[in-house]
Amino acid sequence: MSLPKCLNCNHQFKWIYIFKRLWKFDQTMECPNCTAKLYPSMKFRNKVGYLSLLCLFVSFGLMILGIPKVAFITLIVIIWVCLILTMPYVYSFDNKERPLW
Ligand SMILES: [Zn+2]
Repeated sequence: MSLPKCLNCNHQFKWIYIFKRLWKFDQTMECPNCTAKLYPSMKFRNKVGYLSLLCLFVSFGLMILGIPKVAFITLIVIIWVCLILTMPYVYSFDNKERPLW
């Protein structure tokens, strides 16, 4: 896993830069080096979709197993935190904005 690079000038983005951007509604990123506009790629969006689905399945699986509520919530929080922290590494750019589906 590595951090994404600008498609235009190959500038490597910082983890914190992408992390901050992930919380914004407008996910367009501007390269701090060459100011090119970059968009989240289809690949990235698909990955996020699959990861969310996986989380959901794991949650259901844990519910069926009937583990204590406190352990369940703690586990879910840990899974989500891990996912969010690795998100910038999964991130990839596209130089065009594409429709969601
Ligand atoms: Zn650039």
